[in-house]
Amino acid sequence: MNSRDVRAATRQAKASRARLKEAKKRMKELMRQNEEMKDKMARDAPMLEGINKKVEELLKCPMCVASCDATAKVPCILECGHTFCGECMIVLVAKAFDDLAPNKKSDWVDIRCPTCQFKVSRMNYPLDLALVRKNEDVLTFIKTMQS
Ligand SMILES: [Zn+2]
Ligand SMILES: [Zn+2]
Repeated sequence: MNSRDVRAATRQAKASRARLKEAKKRMKELMRQNEEMKDKMARDAPMLEGINKKVEELLKCPMCVASCDATAKVPCILECGHTFCGECMIVLVAKAFDDLAPNKKSDWVDIRCPTCQFKVSRMNYPLDLALVRKNEDVLTFIKTMQS
């Protein structure tokens, strides 16, 4: 090895030591970021759980206290703005029909919103859910969550 080769080898060794040092520094930084991320997730977990609970509450039918869905428990909205699931709507209309005097039975009944007592006139009996106005925002949300 002549002196030029020695100088070149020294330069190379120095360069790779520097690269190694740089890589170690980068690794340390990544590990620190990873720890920070873990801390952040641990801090955010209760908040996310809180949001989940609130969403669950919002999707619940106030009458049967079960979650609305995109099928039988489709969220139906009354004129007063309150939302009930399809199953409860059927129950409400059937009950209103049962409450009619025998000589007053008709295919059309009035119901009252269980939440605010608002009178909803002329619901068809037996209730055809296809004809009931849906809470489209809630329904879209349910469908989005399912996909
Ligand atoms: Zn219900
Ligand atoms: Zn109401």
